[in-house]
Amino acid sequence: MFKQVENNDYISNFYRYKLFNKKTKTYLLTSDSGAFCFLNSQEFRQLKRGTITSQKTYQLLEEKGIIISKNNIKKTQIQMGTRYSFLQNGCSLHIVIPTARCNLGCDYCFADPSEIHAPKGENDMDEATAKKTVEFILNSPSSAITIEFTGGEPLARFDLVKIMVEHAQKLNKKLKKDLRFSIVTNLSLMNTSIMEFFIEHNINICTSLDGPKQLHNKHRIIHAKQGKEIGTFDTVIHWMKTINKEYKKRNINNKVYALMTITKDSLNYSKEIIDTYLELEIEMVDIRAMMYVGRITEENNKQYLYEYKDFITFYQKCLDYIKELQKKGIEIEDRMTHLYKKKILTGKPQYHTDYESPWGAGISALTYHSNGHIYCCHEALGNDDFLLGNVHQQWLELFQTKEMAFTIMSSMLERNPQCDRCVYKPYCSTSPIENISSQKDINFRPSKTIRHHETLFHCEREFNKILENETRE
Ligand code: SF4
Repeated sequence: MFKQVENNDYISNFYRYKLFNKKTKTYLLTSDSGAFCFLNSQEFRQLKRGTITSQKTYQLLEEKGIIISKNNIKKTQIQMGTRYSFLQNGCSLHIVIPTARCNLGCDYCFADPSEIHAPKGENDMDEATAKKTVEFILNSPSSAITIEFTGGEPLARFDLVKIMVEHAQKLNKKLKKDLRFSIVTNLSLMNTSIMEFFIEHNINICTSLDGPKQLHNKHRIIHAKQGKEIGTFDTVIHWMKTINKEYKKRNINNKVYALMTITKDSLNYSKEIIDTYLELEIEMVDIRAMMYVGRITEENNKQYLYEYKDFITFYQKCLDYIKELQKKGIEIEDRMTHLYKKKILTGKPQYHTDYESPWGAGISALTYHSNGHIYCCHEALGNDDFLLGNVHQQWLELFQTKEMAFTIMSSMLERNPQCDRCVYKPYCSTSPIENISSQKDINFRPSKTIRHHETLFHCEREFNKILENETRE
C-alpha cells in the first residue's frame, strides 16, 4: 500500500534508541542535539533499513534531525550549536574560598573544613592573593561574570569578601562586564552591617536549610565550648526573614535562597521540608540526593546515607506534595524536575555547571582555593588530578594543561560505553569527582552513580507524560 517516499535523498544522523513501551512496541529515539521522537515498530524498522514509506514519518524524522536532508542540514547544525553553546561562552562562574575555616561542625560536610580557631596562615587567603584572584577572574573572556564566595564559612573573613567585591567593581568600571556576586553562607556570623554591604552591592545570598528545626539542628550545629552543641535553625530563619524584609522595604526584587542536604533523617520529612521552604517564600526547592564526594564515603557515613531507592520514594512523595500544592494555586516547583523538563522540551543547555556533558567544571566554572590554587570545582579541592593552576598564571595557560584536558575528558559521557549507547545521554551528565570518590576509578559504572538514577527517574517520567499526551491527541 505504501510507496517509498519520493525524493528521499537523506542520510541517517547518529541517534540512540530504546524500546520505550514494550506493550505498544513504541521506540524512543534521541539525537545528540537533544531532539527526540517516538516511532512504532514498523516505522522504526523502516528507518533502520532506509526504506521509509510514510511521508508523515519522513517529515517527523527530518524535523527532529534524526535523518539529514538538504532541507534540514542547516537547522540541524544550528540545533547542535545551540545544544552545546555552553562550551563557547567562556568561564562565567568563579567560586572563591576566602577561608577554609568554618565555625560549624556539620557531620555530613564533604569539604572537611578547618576548625574556626585554626591558624589563619594556610587556611585563609592573604590580601594580595585575594586581589590577584579577582584580577585573574576578570581576565576571563566571558562577558558575564559571577563571583561566588563560599568556604569554609566566608563570613569568617568578611574583610576579604569586602576587599574582593570592591576591587572587582573598581576594575570593572573599565571592563564593563556583566558582573554579579553571590555568597553561600551558614548565616551564623551575619550582622546588620554585613547585611547592609550585601544589599548595597547587590550580592545574592544563599544559605543551607535542611527543613524543620528538629531535622536541621541534628546536623547543622556549632560546637561551643565545654562540648555543648548549638543548633543553627533559629539563626538561619531569623536572618532569612530579616534580609527578605529589608528587600521588600527597599522594593528590591530578591530573596535569600536556601539549599538542603538530604540525609537518612530527612526521608520521613517530605511535607515538613517543603512547608519550611514555603514559609520562607521560596518557590523553587532543590531536592537532590547526597553525592559521595570528599570525606563522604559509603563506609564512613552509614549513619546518614541511604539506598538510592529510598531516596526515590522520598522524592516521589515530595513531588506528589508539590503537585497537591500547585493544584491549590500555590507557587512551588522542584528545580531538578524543571531542569530535566526544560532540557528535554527545549533542546537547549540549562547552564547548570553540574548538569552538562562535558561537565561545566573547568569550562564554565572554576574554583579558587584560599592559597590561590585553581581547581575545576569545589568538590575537587586538594585533588591534584584536578588542580588546573594558580592565580599568578596567565588565563590561557590554564587551558593548556593536561589536568584541564583530563577534567574535560573524564566528564564526557561518551567515554563510557554504556552511556554512549544510552537513549538518555543527551540529557544526562556525570561528575568525575563523584566517580573517583565512590568507585575509585574514572571509568565508572553508571548504575553505581546517583546521576544515573536521577536521569532515569526524570527522563522516564517526562517521556511517559509526553507519550501519553501524544497518544491522547
Ligand atoms: S549515567 Fe545512566 S542514564 Fe546517564 S547516560 Fe549513562 S547510562 Fe544513561
